[in-house]
Amino acid sequence: MRQTNHQVGMLTEADDWRVRDLSVVWHPCTQMREHPDTLPLVPIARGEGAWLIGHDGRRYLDAVSSWWTNLFGHAEPRIAAAIGAQAMQLEQVMLAGFTHAPAVELAERLLAIAPRQSDRAPLAKVFYADNGSAGVEVALKMAFHWFHNRGEHRRTRFIALENGYHGETLGALAVGDIPLYRRVYAPLLAEALFAPSPDAYLARPGESAADCAARAADALAALLERHAGEVCAVIVEPRVQCAGGMRMHHPDYLARVRELCDASGAFLIADEIAVGFGRTGTLFASESSGVMPDLLCLSKGLTGGFLPLAAVLATQAIYDGFLDDSRERAFLHSHSYTGNPLACAAALASLQVFRDDDILTRNRATAAAMTALAEPLSQHRHVADVRQAGMMLAFELTEGGNKATPFPAASRIGLKAYRAALARGVVLRPLGDVLYWMPPYCVDAEQLQLLADVTRAAIDEATA
Ligand SMILES: *Cc1c(COP(=O)(O)O)cnc(C)c1O
Repeated sequence: MRQTNHQVGMLTEADDWRVRDLSVVWHPCTQMREHPDTLPLVPIARGEGAWLIGHDGRRYLDAVSSWWTNLFGHAEPRIAAAIGAQAMQLEQVMLAGFTHAPAVELAERLLAIAPRQSDRAPLAKVFYADNGSAGVEVALKMAFHWFHNRGEHRRTRFIALENGYHGETLGALAVGDIPLYRRVYAPLLAEALFAPSPDAYLARPGESAADCAARAADALAALLERHAGEVCAVIVEPRVQCAGGMRMHHPDYLARVRELCDASGAFLIADEIAVGFGRTGTLFASESSGVMPDLLCLSKGLTGGFLPLAAVLATQAIYDGFLDDSRERAFLHSHSYTGNPLACAAALASLQVFRDDDILTRNRATAAAMTALAEPLSQHRHVADVRQAGMMLAFELTEGGNKATPFPAASRIGLKAYRAALARGVVLRPLGDVLYWMPPYCVDAEQLQLLADVTRAAIDEATA
């Protein structure tokens, strides 16, 4: 039986979990050799609002929303209750040949709130998968297969953006451009085309964010022209390249991509797995560009952070391209847990919280408070850039406090900042030398103040 007291022999309960973990668990996104000396391992007993609480009673402010999944705080009772009720009713049934209320209702709700564009037929169908990478695979395969069904066999290529990220499976990695995750697997990956990122941090002297976006769009136009008739889709993370260091770009960019895709006959895939569900201020980031994609990938916040689930929203025209007498022309992609009822019930409850608590309005005030708290940090001698899109705010740290003087990678500034913040009860998980705030929407003024204070202390300690 599990010990509930704090002492297990000579070890505290937290130490005991650490030891047992490291003897059997292989962690994601981790050089296991760094545990436990370089990288602490923190056993978490429970979550409560914006807090993660360890077995030793220590509280950690979850400033990164547990890898960008959590929306309203941990153990949100309304979502927990919805999952519990669904579990007593129907926990799982295969979604081939069968259906269930949560899958139908969630599809209806998602289509009702999805981005629209007045001159386009709305997104009309929902295909489920069970994690973000799988959702990206679905969108890529759908785009390719649609053209294949039409006899356009030359359309086999995807265009993705430099510094983009779409997940870790081989198909998703093929359209990703972060060397740390991609390089070793390169021999296995389908060859994608990469267009320059519209990232405003890369603006040349005198260039505005809009100029920089226009320059990147021109380069995309040229790439599409060079590969006319070969490209089945362009895949983009709207507004923010998240894993790429929370790099942000002007909303004009996606509007241009929309036009360029239409002109070249390629589909536009919007990967809103990280930026969807209110992160950038609007419910979906594509809205800020007035753009409706042909395929919209959702995951992470979809269930409020409770369960893995992905949804790919598609147009009627894409759906119709698979209707035929032949099974081979059908989209046969499937996962055992496609459209799991518990996950769909969690997603429905999460969407209900958006309405009941008027989350987007609340977030506008929270985002303004974040702006104000970040402002003094922008003066810090190692902060080269502070950027924000709604509930996402990032600090770019460099040695000289300007873009030209990054820290040498070996100095592991991000790791040092991570440890410094963790020791002060805040979970910041930098991307390289980029520290960012992406807190759950329930974060309050006192917690934000703690976040700002600890961020300063973490930067000071890491760069000392
Ligand atoms: C996290 C992420 C993915 C992958 O989702 P997983 O559920 O981790 O597989 C894909 N695209 C973007 C933009 C992401 O941030």
